[in-house]
Amino acid sequence: MRLHDWQGIGMTSQRSRMRLVDQLEATGIRNRQLLDIICNTPRHLFVDEALAHRAYEDMSLPIGHNQTLSRAYTVARMTEMLLASCPVRRVLEIGTGSGYQACILAQLAVRVYSLERIRSLQEQAARRLQQLDIHNVILRHSDGYKGWPERSPFDGILVTAAPTEVPQKLVDQLTDGGCMVIPVGDAEQCLLKITRHGNQFKQQRIETARFVPLVSGLA
Ligand code: SAH
Repeated sequence: MRLHDWQGIGMTSQRSRMRLVDQLEATGIRNRQLLDIICNTPRHLFVDEALAHRAYEDMSLPIGHNQTLSRAYTVARMTEMLLASCPVRRVLEIGTGSGYQACILAQLAVRVYSLERIRSLQEQAARRLQQLDIHNVILRHSDGYKGWPERSPFDGILVTAAPTEVPQKLVDQLTDGGCMVIPVGDAEQCLLKITRHGNQFKQQRIETARFVPLVSGLA
């Protein structure tokens, strides 16, 4: 099944997806290209069938192993911030999870690299992206704390789990002019935007956030 060939019924229908996009616009997401991509991406195929009917509500959804697919608002906000801040040719995602965020990025960037520490999630995401005929996402089962030095530098880095501090190894893998969007913190988290200018890093606080923790080591 190609990305735009899939069918939805009932709560996974075109109407539910358009309602979600209206909600995202109401919360301030403005990038038309991104909203169209969200409208045309089958989010329900990235969660368990039993949860498919909730896929177009603006809520986070469990994907197993105590992990969650972020709210559509969060995916949209982080992606919009990245698009507005740097050229998105080569993007690194930390925390592949369901593969949904990578699928959105794949439609905007030339090439997406994505790392996941839990093998079964990584394998499932790989199957989903292949089924949807998405071939510009390169997945790897590895610890995202280290980034992907062999494939660096990246124009954009998007981190979808929260470390307690910004990992220096990741900012070092940004291109000059590149940008990283990352939630940081413990009980209280903040979404940060970090932009690289030469060897200077400008850090901007965006808003409070709630992500699963970034955990080191493989599972
Ligand atoms: N972007 C995902 C959201 C997944 S939730 C999606 O679109 O579905 C965060 C993910 O980060 C989880 O799958 C978790 O296993 C993963 N993760 C946590 N720590 C990690 C690490 N050190 N390296 C790679 N992945 C990590």
